[in-house]
Amino acid sequence: MAFDVSAAAKKYLPDALRDIKRLVAIESVQGEAKEGKPFGEGVDRALQEALKISRELGMETANVDGYVGYAQIGEGEKLIGIVGHLDCVPLGEGWEHDPLGGEIVDGVIYGRGVSDDKGPSIAALYAMKILMDSGVKLNSRIRFVFGTNEETGMAGVDYYLAKEGDFDMGFTPDAGFPLCFGEKGGYHGHFSGATNTEGAKVKILSVKGGMAVNVVCDKVVLTCNAGQYAEALKASFVEYAKAADMTCQVEDEGENTLLTLNGKAAHASTPELGVNAISYLMKFVAECELFDSPFAKGYAKVIGLDYSGANCGMKMADEYGELTFNVGIIGGTDFSTYATIDIRYPLTLTAPEFKVKADEMEKTIIQAGLNMDGSGMGKSLYKAPDSPMINALYDAYVKVTQDTVNKPFTMGGGTYAKHFDSIVAFGAGFPNEESGAHMANEHVDVESIQKCMEIYTHALMNLLAL
Ligand SMILES: [Zn+2]
Repeated sequence: MAFDVSAAAKKYLPDALRDIKRLVAIESVQGEAKEGKPFGEGVDRALQEALKISRELGMETANVDGYVGYAQIGEGEKLIGIVGHLDCVPLGEGWEHDPLGGEIVDGVIYGRGVSDDKGPSIAALYAMKILMDSGVKLNSRIRFVFGTNEETGMAGVDYYLAKEGDFDMGFTPDAGFPLCFGEKGGYHGHFSGATNTEGAKVKILSVKGGMAVNVVCDKVVLTCNAGQYAEALKASFVEYAKAADMTCQVEDEGENTLLTLNGKAAHASTPELGVNAISYLMKFVAECELFDSPFAKGYAKVIGLDYSGANCGMKMADEYGELTFNVGIIGGTDFSTYATIDIRYPLTLTAPEFKVKADEMEKTIIQAGLNMDGSGMGKSLYKAPDSPMINALYDAYVKVTQDTVNKPFTMGGGTYAKHFDSIVAFGAGFPNEESGAHMANEHVDVESIQKCMEIYTHALMNLLAL
């Protein structure tokens, strides 16, 4: 080894921690778009600060119209890219430390973004700094792209790709170690249907449930005017919930009856870990003779209680896992009800291959008396686990951690990597390390930041040698 990477990481750790604090102090949640600030004021301030930090480190910087910015070192044809993000989810409640403080207590740094993704981004930026100091010949360009819209749509990197094109290789420090060589493809859709028929004995007035498209719905409320049937309806609903091993509430609100069904939330990429309250409620409505809901009947037919897509012809799998199917949100009036679909399709299936299947599914949904109101899909990501780039990254991880037990993995979630053809997610969470990303008390061990700097430095050296 030409120089001592470990000593260099140790030397720069205090500077890196200071710069993580500078970024954590900025509440970079997406806000109202302004001229030159497409994702709002907070995000733009974080971008300006990150570019300032990069210039302080002696790197060249560019701001790509406020959508992203980048810092660059080295020269040559080949372009190695690292993509992190500066935006964060809202601070939320329940913190025991100042979420904007970057406070360090007993070797742990706390704050929104310290693990997702400001801390890992600074660690990777300092890996570039270590290389600049090292005397290693930078025969390729290494560019750190600061994303600003990861949590709310990833439009920033799409803008970057359209304008600047892809890298030759690289990574995004925004998942876990050792690395992720495959991500399932995604599909989102909206469908709807008539809430009631004229002949229904009990009219549904509204349905509402779900927190997000990508979360299994844990609570749904149906409001109806049950009139003379109210007591029979309530009894039948309570019995249904009991038989399904779910909790429920029945309430009267003036003339109306409210039926609430409780399921269990889970991420849409692992719907089998949840209990979908929407699906169970729609089954009840479809089967209860007091209602006559075309939406619920169509739902029961093409979705039912299933989360594999089996009822609409989408059950499929590859060696890395099954397609998952989730309905996250439902909403409706007495006239029309809509719901959302979140599908994660097998990662070795290409987008055009999946599109053929998705078109057939949409036809099946329409044939069940429902409307498809819109849909969109993204790519899957698959890099052969024995390819040179994957080996280069994995070797860097093993070199620093000596961990050969945890192997490269695949996942249902999506990172920036899926938007590029050239990169994979590499770190920065260590196996079995809980970071509280997106939750209160988000934190990361200071030691992990230092280890990240080391791993990323080795990774960049390995990539330079390819
Ligand atoms: Zn992230």
